Amino acid sequence: MYILLMGPPGAGKGTQAAMLVEKFDIPHISTGDMFRAAVKEGTELGKQAKACMDAGQLVPDSVTIGIVKERLAKSDCKKGFILDGFPRTIEQANALDSTLGELGIKLNRVINISVPADELISRATGRRICKSCGATYHITFNPTSVAGTCDKCSGELYQREDDSEETMTKRLSVYSAQTQPLIEYYQDKGLYTEIDGRQKIDKVLTDIVASLRGE
Ligand SMILES: [Zn+2]
Repeated sequence: MYILLMGPPGAGKGTQAAMLVEKFDIPHISTGDMFRAAVKEGTELGKQAKACMDAGQLVPDSVTIGIVKERLAKSDCKKGFILDGFPRTIEQANALDSTLGELGIKLNRVINISVPADELISRATGRRICKSCGATYHITFNPTSVAGTCDKCSGELYQREDDSEETMTKRLSVYSAQTQPLIEYYQDKGLYTEIDGRQKIDKVLTDIVASLRGE
């Protein structure tokens, strides 16, 4: 099963990816992990990527695509993969097409876990984290018994900067501008499925699996 997984920050993509890994016994390949592995293995491309990152520069497409190519050619991808965080641009999508063509792989589906921005913002802004033990709560969906205090260790709760309304709004608008052309790209290829990420976790998974099986 060759899956491309998309979804805005906070839509539960990581959770679904983990369940799909279990279900289909295929690797979850995220761009971040791929970069870290290439750097750690000290491959030529990994070295180039590291040099850019150390210099605070964007890693050029040629390097990113090369790293993706090396990763997808590995033996654990024979049965399939869940690709996450790539492609981000039409140029990268075209490059992915040719790479998959060379490897004799056809994508089964492009799955987008979709959640409206206002819901993602309320999920994020309600999140609270314990300063002492790292436990995660939500003021509405998973509140502590005493407001501001961790149920597990009585530590103090705080809100991450990333979860502020301003940061989330900015991230989501960048994400949406970046993603829209890709949605159209995969719609044109007849590969695109949008899944309602507001549903319960299990139902989201059921919908994804049904879509992968062409139901
Ligand atoms: Zn705690």
